[in-house]
Amino acid sequence: MLRFGLFIYDHLGGRKILPGSETLDLTHHKVGEPLRREFRQGFAYSDGWVDDSRLTVLNAVDAAERGAAIRTRTRLVRAERSDRRWQLVLSARGNRETVTARGLVNAAGAWVPDVVAHRLRMTSSGHVRLVKGSHIVVRRQFEHDHAYIFSSPTIASSSQSRTSAISP
Ligand SMILES: Cc1cc2nc3c(=O)[nH]c(=O)nc-3n(C[C@H](O)[C@H](O)[C@H](O)COP(=O)(O)OP(=O)(O)OC[C@H]3O[C@@H](n4cnc5c(N)ncnc54)[C@H](O)[C@@H]3O)c2cc1C
Repeated sequence: MLRFGLFIYDHLGGRKILPGSETLDLTHHKVGEPLRREFRQGFAYSDGWVDDSRLTVLNAVDAAERGAAIRTRTRLVRAERSDRRWQLVLSARGNRETVTARGLVNAAGAWVPDVVAHRLRMTSSGHVRLVKGSHIVVRRQFEHDHAYIFSSPTIASSSQSRTSAISP
């Protein structure tokens, strides 16, 4: 299952820079050295880091270059549909403004249900399943740049950019 998942991961992303995933013999590979002997096989894959605030700015700049009007620190207060157009009430720094739009994309992340219920005042049969992730940064633990993800839920450790999925 892990191998299959990594195969999809390798091919879905259109990998150009990072190396593809590989199967590791932990009894001979350096990644296996700090591990207990029962861990014999693992899989390694590469992932990237991005500065999310810069990525957001770059997306906004790209959209602006293609004609979008970017409104930062602007809240959608209300949205109503009439005559095939959306009437949007926006609030920025205490000032309210109404604009019209042909389409409305609800990309409010964790606030998608809030926008549906309170800004659009609609009921929706669709549900957004909210998940939460936590990252704990620790000191370097191993003499290599792999981080480990164990298939057991009880053991986990993380550090650098290349990840090894280990199954006993
Ligand atoms: C602790 C943590 C760690 C994560 N780590 C990773 C990671 O390592 N890799 C990864 O790929 N993903 C990670 N994620 C997930 C990633 O951050 C989200 O998947 C991603 O940000 C979702 O983007 P989005 O644009 O859909 O929503 P968001 O980034 O949540 O953006 C929604 C925006 O809508 C705005 N908004 C809400 N209501 C309104 C309103 N009424 N009017 C105007 N604006 C409104 C909000 O202010 C927000 O800016 C992590 C998430 C968390 C919480």
